[in-house]
Amino acid sequence: MAPACPVCRSPGIRPACPAQLCLDCIKEVWDCPACGAAFYQPIPSPEEISRCYPPVYFGPFFKQYWRDYYKGRALALRLASWRASGDFLDTGCALGTMLAGLRDHSGWRVRGLEFSAKAAALGRALNRLEIASSPLSESPYPAESFDYVLLNNVLEHEPEPRAAMAGVARMLRPGGRLELIVPNGPVDLLPNRALSRLWGRPVHTRHGGHLFFFSRRSLEVLLEASGLRLLSLRCFHLKLGMKARGWLPGSYRIFRRDTWAEAAAAKAEELSLEQGRTLIPPQPSWRRYLWGDRLKRFWRFAGTDFGYDFEVMAEKP
Ligand SMILES: [Zn+2]
Repeated sequence: MAPACPVCRSPGIRPACPAQLCLDCIKEVWDCPACGAAFYQPIPSPEEISRCYPPVYFGPFFKQYWRDYYKGRALALRLASWRASGDFLDTGCALGTMLAGLRDHSGWRVRGLEFSAKAAALGRALNRLEIASSPLSESPYPAESFDYVLLNNVLEHEPEPRAAMAGVARMLRPGGRLELIVPNGPVDLLPNRALSRLWGRPVHTRHGGHLFFFSRRSLEVLLEASGLRLLSLRCFHLKLGMKARGWLPGSYRIFRRDTWAEAAAAKAEELSLEQGRTLIPPQPSWRRYLWGDRLKRFWRFAGTDFGYDFEVMAEKP
């Protein structure tokens, strides 16, 4: 008998399609008719999951320094309309540059959690921040330490999302908020389904390393199970949503390249803090960034599941 759905615990999950988890690793994705979640079944082993993350070259994080820093500065403005100060946690924070932007422009105390020990060490030195290095499920931060937790493209990589969300709920103070950015699962799987039919084999698209594909319903279930109250759920990245459906010219062209093989072949050079600093570009205009950001955020809608990503806000009662 098939096991129960790892998200909603209903029986009756069924095979949906094969997909490429990582290089030379094709696995069966199953889905749950009750909550609409899809996931690799069985859940891949830690060894298989670790193959999704070849050694990384951190150059890009330095090159996008100001974009990340301004992201934090823009977040400071949005947070101020809710609370002027509090404790903020970014999970999967990389070098913590977004946190530095938030810290420098608000009264919030910021901390980070980063899976990669190397990224965490570089980030601590570059941005003078507290960044713990651990998986989300083993967070060293005590219960009720935070007023705001950001989970940006993290949950879909977690082998046990119910446990991960329970951990997040534990770290939040009563009245604290969770901001969750996660791919729109059914849309995330579309290119793989379409290209499997066209090319006769599963193809690595944008879903690489994703273990779970959450529907709107499955996110609602997950929040409820962890005792969090849903405040809003909006869908965004409409253009990527069109590309996922193959509606734009050349939508699937980039997937002809085997990016797993490229990543495996690339030399992950060691990058010192000094070398990284030289990659940071000159500071661009903050005003221009802010207006671009406001324009982008305008295109987030509650009543549709068309876009590629979900933005969820939830509160701990
Ligand atoms: Zn389910």
